[in-house]
Amino acid sequence: MRIVLVDPSRAVQRAMTRLIEEGGHEVASFADGTEALAFITQDPTVRAMITSTQPVNISGIELCAAVRKLSGSRRALHVMLMSSSDDYYLAVTALDNGADDFIHKPPNPDELRARLRLADRVTAMKQQLIFHATTDSLTGLLNRRAFFDVAAEMCDAATAGASLSAVMFDVDHFKRINDTHGHEIGDQVLAAVGAEAKLIDGKAGRLGGEEFCVLLPSETADALECASALQQTVRALRFGRDDKAFAVTCSFGVAEWEADDAIDRMLRRADMAMYEAKKSGRDRIVASDTFKLTTSHDEWRGAARLGKRARAT
Ligand code: GH3
Ligand code: MG
Ligand code: MG
Repeated sequence: MRIVLVDPSRAVQRAMTRLIEEGGHEVASFADGTEALAFITQDPTVRAMITSTQPVNISGIELCAAVRKLSGSRRALHVMLMSSSDDYYLAVTALDNGADDFIHKPPNPDELRARLRLADRVTAMKQQLIFHATTDSLTGLLNRRAFFDVAAEMCDAATAGASLSAVMFDVDHFKRINDTHGHEIGDQVLAAVGAEAKLIDGKAGRLGGEEFCVLLPSETADALECASALQQTVRALRFGRDDKAFAVTCSFGVAEWEADDAIDRMLRRADMAMYEAKKSGRDRIVASDTFKLTTSHDEWRGAARLGKRARAT
C-alpha cells in the first residue's frame, strides 16, 4: 500500500517510515500538511494517510477532514490520526472529522502494522465497491452515473478554458440484431463496440442499452476525426458464425463545449445531432453546429429525451 506520513519531526518521519516499510508498504513523508494534501490529490495510488496532530501549515484534524472530503465516495483512502495525547476527546474529534482510525504516538510496532493490514483490507474492499458502482459490467466502460460525474468535472475544466467535445453514438437497428441473432450475440456486439470506445483517448461511458458517449479534451474537428475513425473500426468488426457473419454500424452526434454550457446542454446537443444522423439514414456522423434542425426543439424534446428515446423511424 502507498502511505502518506505527515509529521513535523524528521526523526519521527524516519522512525515511522522504517516501521511502516517493514510491513511491506511504501511511504511518502511530509512535514507540511498542505504539501501532503497536494500529493495525495495528484497521486490516486495513495491509499492511506497517517498524520500527527501538528503538521506544518494545517492542523492534523483539518487535514483528516480535507482528505476525507477528497476521497468522497469515489476514492478509497484510509485516514489515521496519531497523537501522544491521552485526551480521549481528541480521538472522538478525529473520528468525527473524517479519520478512520486513531493511534498512539509513538505507536507499538505490532499494533501499527496490524492497523495498516486492516487499512489494506478495508481500502481494497472499498476499491472493489467503487469499481462495481461506477463500471458497466458488460463493456467495462463508465456506467451512466459515473459518466455524468466525470462529465461534470470535465465541464468545470472547460469553464476554465480547456476544450471539450462529446461524441455520442448508438448502434443502428440493434433490436433487429437481437431478434435475428439472439441476445447473447447482441451482448457480444455491445462489448466489442464498447472495447473500441475504450481505446479512445477520452472518457467513454455506456449511457444505457446500445448508446455510448466519449468525452474528448478537443474541439469539434478532432472529435469528428475521432468519430470517423470509430465508425470505420466498428464497421470492420464481424460477429456471429462464419457462415452467418454480419457487421454493424453506428450513428454519431458530435457537439463541442460552448461558453456558459452546462454538461447536459452539451450532451443534449450531441444527442440531437445523433438523432439527426439516425433520421437522415443512420451509419453517419452529424456535428451539432453543421446541421439545420428540421425538427423543432419542442418536438425533439418530446421524441428524444436523453437516454430514454421513443423514436419513430
Ligand atoms: P436505431 O437504429 O433507431 O437505434 O434502432 P435500434 O433497434 O438500435 O433501437 P431500439 O431502441 O429500438 O432498440 C434497442 C434495443 O437494445 C432494445 C433492447 O432490448 C436492446 N438492449 C438494451 N440493452 C441491451 C443489452 O444489454 N443487451 C442486449 N443484447 N440488448 C439490449
Ligand atoms: Mg440503436
Ligand atoms: Mg438507443
